Amino acid sequence: MSMVIDVRDLVAQPGSSRAVRLDEAVPGMATQLVSVPDDRPVGADLLLENVVDGVLVTGPVSVVMNLSCARCLKSFDRGFTFEVQELFVPEANPGDDQYPLGEEGHLDLEPMIRDVVVLAMPFAPLCRPDCQGLCARCGGDRNLGECACPPEVDVRWAPLLDLKLDEN
Ligand SMILES: [Zn+2]
Ligand SMILES: [Zn+2]
Repeated sequence: MSMVIDVRDLVAQPGSSRAVRLDEAVPGMATQLVSVPDDRPVGADLLLENVVDGVLVTGPVSVVMNLSCARCLKSFDRGFTFEVQELFVPEANPGDDQYPLGEEGHLDLEPMIRDVVVLAMPFAPLCRPDCQGLCARCGGDRNLGECACPPEVDVRWAPLLDLKLDEN
């Protein structure tokens, strides 16, 4: 499905506005640890307003991301809502922080949605703030108490441990 909106009526009438609801999948949004599954829709409740410079798009964009915990690698879903406020202008240049308003009076919301979601993807998601992660030696999930390895010993203390063992 397309997120291209016909705004000819809006552009023809200064000061007018229109509400647009979207519930569309946006394929290919993923980073190393975070993705939005290709069949999972992104919701948006947007207000399109004819302003002096172009069309101003504001409102919430909601998405459920699938994240992999950066410490224990567990996969989990989390919902996010972002407030967007973006201007679509007739002559947007690449590198501008504005989006293009097509000559035919159409604007494509998909690049904006893609930008806001992908740029907000957490770099190092955690399944919970105090995630214990995986044991570096056996790979067991320390959140589940699966690991039976003895506590890590600081290498600087290892010679002292050896001394104790020798005494016995
Ligand atoms: Zn975790
Ligand atoms: Zn272990």
